[in-house]
Amino acid sequence: MFVREPQRDTPVLAEHEVVVLGGGPAGIAAAAAAGRAGRSTILVERYGFLGGAGTAAGLANFCGLHAKVHGEHHQVVHGIADDVVARLQALGALAAPHVLFGGRIQAQAYDVSAYKLVADQILLAANVRLLFHALAVGYRDGHLLVETKSGRRAIRGRMFIDCSGDGDLAAWMGAPYEVGDGKGNMLYPSTMYRIGGVDPAKAGNACETIAQRMEEAERAGRRFPRKKPILRPQPNPVE
Ligand SMILES: Cc1cc2nc3c(=O)[nH]c(=O)nc-3n(C[C@H](O)[C@H](O)[C@H](O)COP(=O)(O)OP(=O)(O)OC[C@H]3O[C@@H](n4cnc5c(N)ncnc54)[C@H](O)[C@@H]3O)c2cc1C
Repeated sequence: MFVREPQRDTPVLAEHEVVVLGGGPAGIAAAAAAGRAGRSTILVERYGFLGGAGTAAGLANFCGLHAKVHGEHHQVVHGIADDVVARLQALGALAAPHVLFGGRIQAQAYDVSAYKLVADQILLAANVRLLFHALAVGYRDGHLLVETKSGRRAIRGRMFIDCSGDGDLAAWMGAPYEVGDGKGNMLYPSTMYRIGGVDPAKAGNACETIAQRMEEAERAGRRFPRKKPILRPQPNPVE
C-alpha cells in the first residue's frame, strides 16, 4: 500500500560553496578545512551535536591517531586532529594514551561532552555554519534535501562532501554501491557503555588484565557471547 503525496515546492534554506553532510570526524575535518580555506561552508547533522560515532555512539577514544613506527607508538595523524587533541588537553579532557591487544595498538580516551564542545569551537572559528537536527533525505538539482523541525528544506551548494559514514549522499547522486556481503550480513557492532563510581585503586590496570580475567572466568564456568573486551581508561579516574 502507498499514500500519494501532493507535489510541493521546497523552500531553499541556504546557499553555500561547500555543503558537508555529517558531523563526525570526517565532517569536522572537511568542514574546518573548507572554512579555513575561505569557502562559505555549511555542515548538516541530524543530531544536535558533532562527533559522530565518537560522541553519539560513545566510542570515547581516538583509535587511529597513532601507529607503531619501528617498534614504538607515535601519533602519526596531525593537522586538524592536533587542534582537537590540544583543545581537549587544555580542558583536562584527554587521558594519557593506552595500549591494547597485546601492545599492538595505541588509543587515547577523551571526555565525550568535551569533544562535542571543542568540535563546535573549531568549526565556529572556521566560520562554518552548523545546521543541527536536520536529517538529509535526498539530493535534487544541486540541492541537498533535509527534513527539519520546520519542515522540508533545500540547501544549494557548488560542492558536496559526503561524510555521512553511510555514503547516503553519494548513493543519492548515483554512485554505485553494495551493502554488506550481499547476503544480508553487515559489520557487527560493539556495545559501548560507561561505568561511573569506579574505585581507581581497586580497578588498577584492568585495562590490560580484563581479557585474562574473562578467560579465567570462562575456565571457572562462565560463558561470554563475545570475546575481546576493550576497556578505555577515561580522563576522569572514577569512570
Ligand atoms: C563497531 C565499531 C567500533 C569502533 N570503535 C572505534 C573506537 O573505539 N575508536 C575509534 O577511534 N574508532 C572506532 N571506530 C571507527 C569510527 O567509528 C569511525 O572511523 C568514525 O566514526 C568515522 O567517522 P565518520 O565521520 O566517517 O562517520 P561517523 O562517525 O559515522 O559520522 C557520520 C555523521 O553523519 C551523520 N549522518 C549520517 N547520515 C545522515 C543524514 N542522512 N543526515 C544528517 N546527518 C547524517 C551522523 O549522525 C554522524 O554524526 C569503530 C567503528 C565501528 C563500526
